[in-house]
This record gives sequence, structure tokens and C-alpha cells, in this order.
Amino acid sequence: MVGMGLGDLIDRAAELILSAEYVVALTGAGVSVESGIRPFRGPGGIWTERGEPSMDGYRRFVANPRAYWEGRTRPRRGHGFGTSIYEAEPNPGHRALAEMEGMGLLRALITQNIDNLHIAAGSRNVLEIHGNAHKLRCVSCNARFPREGFDLSVLPPRCPECGGVVKGDTVMFGEPIPSDVLSRCFEESERSDCMIVAGTSAVVYPAAGLPLMVKRGGGVLVEVNPLRSELSQLCDVCVRAPSGKALPLLVSTLKRLRS
Ligand SMILES: [Zn+2]
Repeated sequence: MVGMGLGDLIDRAAELILSAEYVVALTGAGVSVESGIRPFRGPGGIWTERGEPSMDGYRRFVANPRAYWEGRTRPRRGHGFGTSIYEAEPNPGHRALAEMEGMGLLRALITQNIDNLHIAAGSRNVLEIHGNAHKLRCVSCNARFPREGFDLSVLPPRCPECGGVVKGDTVMFGEPIPSDVLSRCFEESERSDCMIVAGTSAVVYPAAGLPLMVKRGGGVLVEVNPLRSELSQLCDVCVRAPSGKALPLLVSTLKRLRS
């Protein structure tokens, strides 16, 4: 691919997508950077600057859910996320993926982001592998509830469905990925013969294993990332551009090639 310009790479990516049967996308922090959300890892990342948070968050929650909730409901000072994830808006990259799904070309979207921006952009079949900061989840039955308006008068709050303890849906350090989401991620990846990997270096498991599943099954990988990643050498096309630029170009190319 040496010597290919951005337009050629986008054309090649579009051809792979159009000749695939079942296209799935995997996204990460890079897709939300253009919405003003700072990544955790990598250059400019919150954890790169401040160090990683304590690794035993989930253990402490399990040991004392009430203390976890009391810590959450206390008013907080600035959290250093850049634009707050509660105020951020989808960018053209999010909207392009929603449009691809609407065109019938993208079957599922697996994201490591917790910011709800894919859903806000209109994507429907979204699997949030690390949860959603706008939701709460019952640790017993996995039922999800909107955070907004949930009754917090007694802490820890209890699940209206089963009485289990409720926590934020966002997956904490040391917390297993909820089994319902994880098994659907495996199903979609197993079925996929083309995965678009956008804005993620896919080094954190279990997400990191999903492109490998597609590749092992004989499928192709399309990387959209301004930086080279550990996955790049496995990818069939590497589009070296930010997703907010590359994905809208990809959508217009898909429309042109289909017409
Ligand atoms: Zn429950």
C-alpha cells in the first residue's frame, strides 16, 4: 500500500466493504477525540498524564456498594475529561457509521467508548463492551436503566426487576465484562467477514481479540487510524486519517460505487 493516497485507500476500503457479507465495526477512544473527549491511554491521555486509576475499583464496590454510591452522589469538582461526556455531541465519524448502518452496509457496531455518542448519532445495533456512562446496571440480572431519574433515595439502589444491587453501567477495573454484551460481541465477530477498526489500537482485551477472530475466520480488516497500531500489520487496508475525516469520505465513496 506504499505510495497509495488517501483517496485510493478509501476506494480500496469501500471495495472490501461492498464485497463482504457481514460488516461489523469496532471503535475506540480515537472516534470520540473529535467530539472533545480525551482518551485514557496514549498521547494526551488522562491516565498517561495522571497514572492509571486503582485497579481494584470493582472489588471495593463489591465489598461496600453503599460507600461506592456515597462517593458518586457527592458533588464533584472538574474531572479532567475535556468536554464532559454528558455534554459531548457526535462528530462526523459517528454520523458516518450510523449512515452506513442505515444503508444496510454495517450490521453491528462494537465500541469500547462509554460516551453514548454512537447511539446519539443514530446507530442502533450498538454493543458497548465497557458499558455506558448514561446508564445504570443491575449486577445480578444485567438489566440497564437510564441514570437520569433513577431513585437514589436509598443507597445502594436496588434493581426494580430482581432486587439486586445496581451500579453504574461503566465497567470498572477488575469487573468482568457483562456476559450478555460479551457473548454478543463474540457472535457478531464470528459472523463477520469484514471488520472496520476505527480509532482504536485494539490492545485491551477482550476487544483486542475480536479483529483476530475475523481474520482467523478468513475475513478482512480495514483500519482507520491516524497512527500505526499493533494491529496494522494484520489489516488489509490502513486508512491513515482521523475517523471524523475518513469515515464520511468512505460513506460518500460507498454511495458512488453502489450507484
Ligand atoms: Zn436485576
